[in-house]
Amino acid sequence: LFVCFEGGEGGGKSTQSRLLRDWLTAEGHTVLLTFEPGDTAVGREVRRIVLSPETGELSHRTEVLLYAADKAEHVDTVVMPALDRGEVVITDRYVDSALAYQGAGRVLDPADVARVNRWATGDLRPHLTVVLDLAPAAGLGRFEERDRIEAESVEFHERVRAAFLALAVDDPDHYLVLDARQPIDEIAALIRARVAPLLTQ
Ligand code: C5P
Repeated sequence: LFVCFEGGEGGGKSTQSRLLRDWLTAEGHTVLLTFEPGDTAVGREVRRIVLSPETGELSHRTEVLLYAADKAEHVDTVVMPALDRGEVVITDRYVDSALAYQGAGRVLDPADVARVNRWATGDLRPHLTVVLDLAPAAGLGRFEERDRIEAESVEFHERVRAAFLALAVDDPDHYLVLDARQPIDEIAALIRARVAPLLTQ
């Protein structure tokens, strides 16, 4: 089983992915919790480059390819091996982040970003993507220090948000969209309810 958490900044993806991991582990599953960008040796370097304010402006195509390189390494060396071992894999961000941040945020042709990412991931798709939806003004307000992407305009983050929601609307069987303003334990319960039937398939 492969589950992704997606959404803008400050929506609680890391908290909810940990809570889901803890519940699945208590239920007797072997779970790998991971994230993008940066959960491989190469990925850590990519993360430093794409997020450091010192990097300054990057060509948008360079940005797509750097995130895609992180993803290729992540899928080949972390995600696929764990799925092959029969583990549940939970990732904090995946392809939808590229479609939303690079495709919609940077205003690139979504078909190009999708094609690059399909190739980078060998077209590995999640069984379920949980979108933790939050207005950018609320999410970004939670941070004092901003990375290169968080420092983008509210309009940029509004496009990102709209892109996540559009992906979910197009494919409701594979998405769960939740209002991230709800209490943490209520969100966690809604996620468990959606994941539980997937475990028996
Ligand atoms: O907070 P998190 O670890 O998810 O931070 C990753 C950062 O990378 C976020 O600021 C997010 O906006 C950015 N990102 C991006 N494009 C992607 C994936 C992540 O701009 N494809």
